Amino acid sequence: MASMTKQLPDSLWAATAPQAPVTVPLAENIAVDVAIVGAGFNGLRAAICLAEAGKKVCVLEAGDIGWGASGRNGGQVNPIGHEPPKTVAQRWQGLHDSSYAKRFTDCVIGSADELFDVVERYNIDCDAEQNGWIRAIHGSSANKDFESMFQGWSASGADLRLIERDELQALSGTTGYSRGWVSSKGGSVQPLAYARGLAVAAINAGAQIFTQTSISTLVMHDGGWKLAARSGEVLAEQVILATNGYTDGLCDGLQQSIVPIVSIQAATETLTAEQDARILPGRHTFADTRRVIYYFKKTADKRLVFGSAGFSGEQPGVSDMHRIQQGISRVYPMLNGIGIDYIWGGRIAVTQDHLPHIHQPAPGLWTGLGCNGRGVAMSTVLGRLLAELALGKSRDSIALPVTSIKAFPFHRFHRIGAKAVLRWREHLDNRESRG
Ligand SMILES: Cc1cc2nc3c(=O)[nH]c(=O)nc-3n(C[C@H](O)[C@H](O)[C@H](O)COP(=O)(O)OP(=O)(O)OC[C@H]3O[C@@H](n4cnc5c(N)ncnc54)[C@H](O)[C@@H]3O)c2cc1C
Repeated sequence: MASMTKQLPDSLWAATAPQAPVTVPLAENIAVDVAIVGAGFNGLRAAICLAEAGKKVCVLEAGDIGWGASGRNGGQVNPIGHEPPKTVAQRWQGLHDSSYAKRFTDCVIGSADELFDVVERYNIDCDAEQNGWIRAIHGSSANKDFESMFQGWSASGADLRLIERDELQALSGTTGYSRGWVSSKGGSVQPLAYARGLAVAAINAGAQIFTQTSISTLVMHDGGWKLAARSGEVLAEQVILATNGYTDGLCDGLQQSIVPIVSIQAATETLTAEQDARILPGRHTFADTRRVIYYFKKTADKRLVFGSAGFSGEQPGVSDMHRIQQGISRVYPMLNGIGIDYIWGGRIAVTQDHLPHIHQPAPGLWTGLGCNGRGVAMSTVLGRLLAELALGKSRDSIALPVTSIKAFPFHRFHRIGAKAVLRWREHLDNRESRG
């Protein structure tokens, strides 16, 4: 009989991460204070915070620890949002108290430090380095947006420094960009190693983690909640859904509030000493302003890990491989023809307003999702915020407003729509590159 387990994709991260702590599927009925669905950065951080506060906590994960985006991402710890703080403040004007905008901005700016503090506090072995993040302009269409992002985030306290052609080329080893910024707080982790380290910390704090445990129903029960898996049930006073791009139908409308977009990662073979010396010599992470982003970094074992959007689903197809190879040689002509040892994909949760969302769909039920591809640091923060809410902290004092769930218009057509938009955007990027 075919295995029913959900395996991690064959990624560089899976090949090089320290062993996961031993966990088993749920095989009995249990009762807890808080049940968390999803063992990614968000769910695991929430579990640590709750267990440390004395709560009886369990995490229920359909795959293995870090099976979702947390074990598949680029590992870039990038502490800047998708829009300038002023735009966020305008979005929220009249909807939420004006104090949210500043708290949220401060929280985003502090998110990378928060992650690296977590790594240090729990002594997580995950190749963590805070060497800075370079964001570079790919073409003139991005100038205006880049400028307002730079001005807006700098004025709000983010530690950004403009870099011009020569310095940018020296720091990156590519001549493909002429202007950018360095965010000194940015950095990098081996993401699956980080997720597994969070899981160890959660278990040490007293949380239980059940893997290969897909929750199929969630219903109100006796003033609390009942979650059912194939081989056991959980009674919980409160529930946190930390399911992000893998959100299913457990909570009415939640799946329709995000669009899952596929992102692809590819790890090259080990760079030669000469390539290693020229490419990102200061070990920065790098992302550009393309409409269909290119983002990359070097790993501890001296490979280039290069990412962009995926067009053929989470299992990358031939055309994805081709696009990634094309992207690598466009940015680094010296790597033209380099071998790709691993290629894999995963789901990003995109929201309509490009902001992460926190909801309380019913009493005792919390969820936080939608980091829009910049969630390594932010989902670590979201987990803490959700834990604080479950512990009774006033929703008026946290960094994100608790909002009602809103469906994307025409959500059922998202697959076709997203693909068409990606193709159009890539066409514009390519036209600009040729120009
Ligand atoms: C390829 C890729 C590259 C990325 N690169 C970066 C990057 O470089 N920098 C950055 O900041 N962000 C990046 N991101 C985004 C980042 O990875 C995510 O924002 C973050 O990992 C989300 O964490 P999470 O815990 O919220 O969700 P996830 O890690 O996706 O975890 C959700 C979990 O919920 C589980 N689940 C869902 N439904 C159920 C159910 N019914 N029962 C039990 N379990 C369930 C899933 O199995 C899954 O493991 C990238 C994402 C991808 C996919």
